[in-house]
Amino acid sequence: MYKVNEVFETIQGEGSFTGAAAIFIRLQGCPVGCSWCDTKHTWEIKDTLRQPLGDIVIKTAETEHWAEVSPAELLALFATEGYQAKHVVITGGEPCMYDLNPLCHILHQHGYSTQIETSGTFEVKAPADTWVTVSPKVNMAGGYTVLQSALDRANEIKHPVAMEKHVDELLQLLQRTDTTAKLVYLQPISQQRRATELAIAMCKRYNFRLSVQVHKYLGIS
Ligand code: SF4
Repeated sequence: MYKVNEVFETIQGEGSFTGAAAIFIRLQGCPVGCSWCDTKHTWEIKDTLRQPLGDIVIKTAETEHWAEVSPAELLALFATEGYQAKHVVITGGEPCMYDLNPLCHILHQHGYSTQIETSGTFEVKAPADTWVTVSPKVNMAGGYTVLQSALDRANEIKHPVAMEKHVDELLQLLQRTDTTAKLVYLQPISQQRRATELAIAMCKRYNFRLSVQVHKYLGIS
């Protein structure tokens, strides 16, 4: 069973799947504590805020409410909601607090591709053909470290950047893993011009790719 904060269909706005129609499953719970987190409403799992799945899918605002849902129930929801996307992004919160194998397996059996967006601070429990995006969170308030196993498992590493020290953090992380088959992105931490200009300059300097949060420029979820 998974604690789900929201489910919605949209366009993936980040990383190598940018532009793909996607169903997002946002799981509840994250202890990592990034100060600039834009999903702080997913951090806590409060028993008093549990709701039926039907109430979760009609949310019109970000709230801390969550529903406990099985993989089969999530799959059935896609049909009742009429979702057409065949790519599923499992995000959070920190989705790797959960064993994602059962959910990914049932989705793959029904023709969906899967992608996980994780901080890299929990072991990735997912099938080999799930695309893993690690957005490494270094020195955050929760005191978690980026795991070697998560770095090695990553298909893409997408690092949030606001200052040059964030690029230095990434360079240190990359020394720990073979990047031959990985895509490496810098993603401005906000839409502010300064962060974007820094990311562009650093992409040119180190031959990284640039990921901007396209959905935020479009004003969609
Ligand atoms: S890991 Fe993600 S959800 Fe958790 S605090 Fe950091 S940005 Fe927010």
